[in-house]
Parts: sequence; C-alpha cells; structure tokens
Amino acid sequence: MNVTELARKLRTHPKKLLEILPEFGFDIGARAIKVDERIAGNIIKSWRRIKKELERREEIEKEKQKELEKKERQETGASVKIPARLTVSELADILDIQTTRLIMELMKNGILAAKNENIDRDTAVLIAQDLGYQVVEETEEDKNSTPDEDSSVHVRNLQEILANEKTDKRPPVVVVVGHVDHGKTKLLDAIRHADVVSKEAGGITQHIGAYQVVWKDPKTQQDSPLTFIDTPGHEAFTVMRSRGAKVADIAILVVAADDSVKPQTVESINIIKAAKIPMVVAINKIDKPEADVEKVKVDLSQREVVCEEWGGQVPMVEISAKQNLNIDKLLDMLLLVDQLNAEDIQSNPNRPAAGTIIEAHVNSGQGNVATLLVQTGTLRPDDPLVVNGRIFGKVRAMKNDRGEDLKEAGPSTPVRILGFKVLPQVGDVLDVGSAQGAEKVDVKAQKSRQSRAERHSTIRHHSGDEAEDKSQVLNLVVKADTLGSLEAVISSLSKIEHEVVGVRVVGKGLGNITADDVGKAQAANALICAFNVSAPFGIQDMMREKGLKLAEYKIIYDLTDFIKAELGKMIQSETIKVDLGVLEIKAIFHTEKNKMIIGGLVKSGKIELNALARVIRGEEEKGVGVIKSLQIGKQNEKSVPEGTECGAEFEGKTKLIVGDRLEAYKEEIIIKKANF
Ligand code: GDP
Repeated sequence: MNVTELARKLRTHPKKLLEILPEFGFDIGARAIKVDERIAGNIIKSWRRIKKELERREEIEKEKQKELEKKERQETGASVKIPARLTVSELADILDIQTTRLIMELMKNGILAAKNENIDRDTAVLIAQDLGYQVVEETEEDKNSTPDEDSSVHVRNLQEILANEKTDKRPPVVVVVGHVDHGKTKLLDAIRHADVVSKEAGGITQHIGAYQVVWKDPKTQQDSPLTFIDTPGHEAFTVMRSRGAKVADIAILVVAADDSVKPQTVESINIIKAAKIPMVVAINKIDKPEADVEKVKVDLSQREVVCEEWGGQVPMVEISAKQNLNIDKLLDMLLLVDQLNAEDIQSNPNRPAAGTIIEAHVNSGQGNVATLLVQTGTLRPDDPLVVNGRIFGKVRAMKNDRGEDLKEAGPSTPVRILGFKVLPQVGDVLDVGSAQGAEKVDVKAQKSRQSRAERHSTIRHHSGDEAEDKSQVLNLVVKADTLGSLEAVISSLSKIEHEVVGVRVVGKGLGNITADDVGKAQAANALICAFNVSAPFGIQDMMREKGLKLAEYKIIYDLTDFIKAELGKMIQSETIKVDLGVLEIKAIFHTEKNKMIIGGLVKSGKIELNALARVIRGEEEKGVGVIKSLQIGKQNEKSVPEGTECGAEFEGKTKLIVGDRLEAYKEEIIIKKANF
C-alpha cells in the first residue's frame, strides 16, 4: 500500500505519519513510499492507540506552554480587575486570551459556557488566578463577598469526587440543546410522555428542573431510567453552566429540518465538543412539508458533525416532536450511547449524596424548595444539607418529579427537597459527606448576600442596556416563580433582536404581581410580564385603571411571541435615501426658470434618470432638484456610469454654477416588517 493512501485512510498527513511511526515500533524508513500490506494492517489496528498517545503529548505540550505564560505573569505581577458580572468573551478580553481558549479553561473546571453567557465572579477569579494573574478587588463590597462565596472550590471538589468514585453504573443525564424554536421544549414534553412508568402510574408531573423516564432497553429488555434536564426554557441551564456545574453525560442536539443549522446550533456544537460529551442529533419537524433532512445532514457535516451512514460517528434520528414520531427510536439510541459510554457514566451509590442544585425557589406554603440532581451517593431524609461547605438545614422531605415521596434518592435522581433554612442558588454544590466540621450557615448573612446579588443584576439590567440606542423601546417589569425561570425569561427577552425596536427590563422579581410592581410599571410606562405567576384581582383592577398591560404566560416562547408582536406594532414604515452617485458640473448650456441644461462628469457611482439631486457648492448644500433627462453625446440614457461625461436637464429652483456637485439619490419606502 502507498504511504499516501495509508495516511489518507488514517486521516493524517503522510509526512507526519512517517515521522511518528518509528516511535511506535513501525520502522518503515523516513522516506518510504510503499508499506508492506501486513505492516499497514497492523498500523491501522494500532492507530487508535497511537492517536490517543499523540493527543496526550499535544496536551502536555500545551500545558507546558501555559505554565510558561503563567510563570511570566506571576513574575511580572500582572493583575486584573474583575467585575461582579461579566460574559465569557468579556472575561477573555480582560485576561487577554482567545475566547475559545477560555471556553476550554472553563471546561476543565467543569463549566460549559458559550461566549455570550454570563459567568459568575467566583469562577472568573479562579480562572484568572489559574492563569497566573493577581486579582485586584474592585470595590469594598467585592472584597467582603469573595472569600465565603467561592463556590468554584466546591464545584471542583465535586468533580473530583465524581471522577474518583466510579463503582456502579448510573442512569445517564441528558441535556437538550439547539437553536431557539427548533423544538427543545416540545421534544422534552414528548419524551416525558413516552415514559413507561408514568403511563402505568398515571402520576401527576411536577416541573422540578429535571425528570426521569424509564425506557425498555431494546437489547436487554430491561427497564432503564434516563434523566433529562428540563429547566424552564433551558435557558436556566445556562445559568447553571455559568455557575460551574457540570451535570450532563449526553447531549441531544435538536435541529429543525425546515430551518437547518443556525447560529445557536453551531454554538451548541462547539460547547458539546469542548465538553467532550457524546451527542445524538435529533432532526426535528420532519412532519413539515418543507423539511429537508439531507440539507441538515450536509450543513452539519460542514461543522464536522457527520452521521454514521456517511462514515461519521454521530447518531442522527429523524423525529417529529409534535407528532410523537420516532421518539422511541431516539430513546433507544440514547440507551445505546449510554452503553457505549458506560465506563464514564458511573458513580458510587454507597456514599453520602453529593450533587448540584438545579432549581430553587420560595414556595408560599412550603418555604424554601430546591431540586438537587444527585450525582453520586444516596440521599435520605434527615441528611444534613451541606451547601458549598456550610450546613443549610437537613432533609425534611423529598419528592420526585411525579410528586411521590422518596425515602432514598440515588445517583442521577432529581429530587425536590424541603428543609433549607436558606435558599441555595442554582449551580450550588450539595455534599452531605462534608458535614463534619462544616459550620452552620449564618441565615442573616446569607439573606444579605442574596439581596446583594439581586441588586447587582438589577443594576445591570438598568444600565449598559443595548436597548438604549434603539429608537423605540418597550419597557418591561418581569415577575416569575423561580430565580431560574426569571433568569430564563430575561435572557430570552434580551435575545429578541431588531434594529429599531428593543426591550428594556426596568423591574424584576419573584412572586405574584404587587402594587409595587404596578407603581414601577406606571413610572416607566412598562408592560408587566407574569411568568408562572399571576396578578390578584385587586391588582388587575389597579392596572386597568392605570391603563397598564399584563402578559401572563406559562411558556417562555409564548411570552416572547407576545412581546415580539407588541414590538411589531411599534414598528412603522420608513423612507430611506439611497445614494447613487456624484456628477460634477463642467458647463452650463442653457438656463430658464427652474430648469437648466448642464454638462458634467460622473465622479463616482452612477446618475439615474429621475433621480433626486442635492446641489453641493464647496461644503454647503444649496438646494435639491431632479434629473429630468440624461444624454451621452446625442443619445438619451437612463443611467450614466462613473467616469463618463454627460449632458443633463436639472429641474429645481437652485441656480447651478460650474464646479457645483450634484449628489444623486433616490428615496425608497421600506415597510418595516417585524422580522425577529
Ligand atoms: P424551543 O425554543 O427549541 O424549545 O422550541 P419549541 O419546543 O418551543 O418549539 C418551537 C415551535 O416549533 C413550537 O411552535 C412548536 O409547536 C413547534 N414544533 C416543535 N416540534 C415540532 C415538530 O416536530 N413539528 C412541527 N410541525 N412543529 C414543531
């Protein structure tokens, strides 16, 4: 076999192949052109191992390089200031590294975050220090808050426990990602309804941030549970990621067959790849007549996501979440991927529970309620709730997503827990095993931390708002039932993009609409959005009196659709001027009232018949007229290009002189459509 052919088979460069083979015991000579068939066969067989080793070496090289950079920063005393809230790309700017590199650094700390996502300060500080920077405190407040809020340490501890204690297989945790409106929510609903257990038990589903379904494994015929992250609108998942939690084992990338690959699809692919978790592509909406599955596959292959039938490794399932089509195949596929990755998807059920908070809110009847995704160990009633190293209370009661009381919750189980004296935050780490020596939480201090955090984010939404430079802004007061959903709603609303209209959040909070919210809305002439909360009758009367609008929704995309429609109403048609070209006047042939025949040269662009023309003398505009006829030589023309001399009839009040410039333009009326 030719070396080039072998290299092609192995998807590497022939030169590189010849260079590395001796190291792995294949001494075929540095300039070999052919390689013995038997040896070639052995090389192909060993290739996986060789490649792994090469990747490992590359990794070591990179680490060395980074260590050098770090040392240099430490020696030169490089320092940075880190604000309380910032996005990944803002942090990359501060740290003077590429965003992709930062995303990789975050991954290593167990954080999945895209470039426009917010990242909390604790994590940012940790990354900065890891890179050798000294972090200079910005304000007194930051100084006080950093030491006891350094949750990244706890996230890292959890990752360590998870990595080191892999004794028993646990159910896979699946996350659904993809472009907005491609069907993530619908798919999660469809999967939930496919569950064999909930069908049998007829249980009442509760939205607790994640759910488990049991599916019969097609191979073993065994009932196999799978856990799905189901945070409101999935945007809350973003919050979780930005706080450092790594929870998913498998990603479903949803791509709508009628829309194919879109920016958030690409972003999702990058994140999945960087996180090194396996993915299954769900090509959705195949029921639609305009569905084009082949196009999706082609577009994905250009992003190096290649389906198995084309020689790639990414399983793809064609589904319709709406019509429940092939959801069974998708679940079969997830179990297959789970089995292929069985070595990784393990933990130790025989230890105290540890995991990540995936949802938290205050319930009027029950007080603080939070959902924990148990990632290892087993949680039981009365276990101490050790959150980020401090005891927040103990488990008073726990329920699953069907509202059933649990006496035990093992790995990969999402459980709703009662018993928190202080509300934990999404992304916090709970580790029952670290109870010994842990101090009890200072309830008062925690409350002030919570309100400080809320103040920070309110400030952010008031200032530095993109909506500031829009000509028309729709003010909003947003209320929601949980912190996660509030973040999710605000994040979805901020993604509505349009060049002339935008939204600005002037107030936000948790719980039902209050008189205070009405006051705020009135002051800013804002619309009130109620997500999963309501406005009591008295408040509704008050709003009617003041002529304020209320948008009450339970589903994020319904709310964003409504807001888009409201914005659409604000957009009107607009006349714009399109510049055509400039004619410099060289001669005046004829003058009469409101009309002149001139000769000139088109200096730039082109001049069109019936174009409007501004008369410019020196720097000054002298008036406006219309080009009524155009001639090149004796020939009438509709348009004269740049660099051409022509004659023209100018109709207008301004008296033209030699040396004037006519700036020709036309007016176009644009009926602005609300195309978000
Ligand atoms: P998400 O933003 O990715 O969560 O998307 P949604 O699940 O909210 O779906 C967006 C829109 O697409 C909704 O109007 C759904 O009803 C619709 N949709 C989702 N899946 C399908 C499907 O399989 N077929 C069709 N025809 N519509 C779908």
